[in-house]
Amino acid sequence: MTPAPSSVPPSAPSPDHESTAAPVEPHRVLVLNSGSSSVKYQLLDMRDRSRLASGLVERIGEETSRLVHTPLTGGGAEPRERTGRIADHDEALKAAAEELAADGLGLDSPELAAIGHRVVHGGLRFSAPTVITDEVLKEIERLVPVAPLHNPANITGIRTAQALRPDLPQVAVFDTAFHTTMPEAAARYAIDVETADAHRIRRYGFHGTSHAYVSRKTAELLGKTPEEVNVIVLHLGNGASASAVAGGRCVETSMGLTPLEGLVMGTRSGDIDPAVTFHLKRVAGMSADEIDVLLNKKSGLVGLCGDNDMRVIRRRIDEGDEQASLAFDIYIHRLKKYIGAYTAVLGRVDAVAFTAGVGENAAPVREAAIAGLEELGMAVDASLNSVRSPQPRLISPEYARVAVAVVPTDEELEIAEQTFALVSRGNADSPVHSDN
Ligand code: AMP
Repeated sequence: MTPAPSSVPPSAPSPDHESTAAPVEPHRVLVLNSGSSSVKYQLLDMRDRSRLASGLVERIGEETSRLVHTPLTGGGAEPRERTGRIADHDEALKAAAEELAADGLGLDSPELAAIGHRVVHGGLRFSAPTVITDEVLKEIERLVPVAPLHNPANITGIRTAQALRPDLPQVAVFDTAFHTTMPEAAARYAIDVETADAHRIRRYGFHGTSHAYVSRKTAELLGKTPEEVNVIVLHLGNGASASAVAGGRCVETSMGLTPLEGLVMGTRSGDIDPAVTFHLKRVAGMSADEIDVLLNKKSGLVGLCGDNDMRVIRRRIDEGDEQASLAFDIYIHRLKKYIGAYTAVLGRVDAVAFTAGVGENAAPVREAAIAGLEELGMAVDASLNSVRSPQPRLISPEYARVAVAVVPTDEELEIAEQTFALVSRGNADSPVHSDN
């Protein structure tokens, strides 16, 4: 696996590109989500929004690296797997490119319109998808201090993809972008303004691509435009966040400077008295890094009961496990507080939408979170709630004033849509706000 730099493996003949056909407009988008030791990718055909292939490279840099590539054209085929050390992101992306090429979907194809990158932190500057220039990349680098775990990996992914296809537009789609419409009253912490501004300390919010997609899909489900509805989106995955979306604009979200704030998550504590951290330092003698690990990796559901998978927690509750039961109750209590708070923030709520791994699949979480909220106009119909489906659907009874919905999220599709829209209309108007 040592192809020359800046080269992509040549494609096998494309399944939808016959040699006699007229030149085809570029219509594919590769979506890349680069983590510190993993790269997830999806190739989409934007003519019909279909997926052509998806894959995951994990444990990059270890002896036990693994690539799983799933071809999805023509009814799909069995996933293919490679194991053995993949040294870095460069090798990972080249291995993915080889797998795509073997399916006739090589990155050298003229059908590829752009590469869309998930970038976690765009600060205040990037409020929309942006074509990546040297200057944009520098700005993403400048934001590393507020996203030390995420932005470096995203930057590595971008540089690697640029080296592979230097001629192709590369677009950054920011997790924070959707939340840049939050009013100052919601975005500022009540701390000394000079200190906050000097260190860019404010509430940025994350999961924005999902909140944007789900709030729009929820409006669609209600037969309305996004401008006509106020929606509370509950993105409940291993990471979890809530947002209040008024007329298509985010006005409040639960994550803050980092993804640690807000809801109880799989491994993160969510809201906590900041004095707990001083206490841990002074009394327990823990370092800042140890506290960071405790609150981000060893708290939330895993800290409370040892498991962070909601399926396992529900099974334990069914078997009478009190620790799992208490963890579930704490999780739900926090969720309910946010639903109440966001109802107050919005004034009028048209819909509550559950999404992500837990929100889409865990009927008991949805039932418990909405239970007792009849005074807010919210209720869940037990039989509708028990339906399993990949489609957006209502789970509230007809009489309920507020629609409660399950709306599967699709961050890759949203990144591809935003990327394709930007490159299709030209990139003259990539919006850049005043500096933060
Ligand atoms: P995500 O981060 O959106 O991929 O969500 C991952 C989480 O979703 C897992 O940690 C589980 O807690 C939860 N999850 C996935 N499938 C189910 C399911 N069928 N029932 C309950 N929870 C689920």
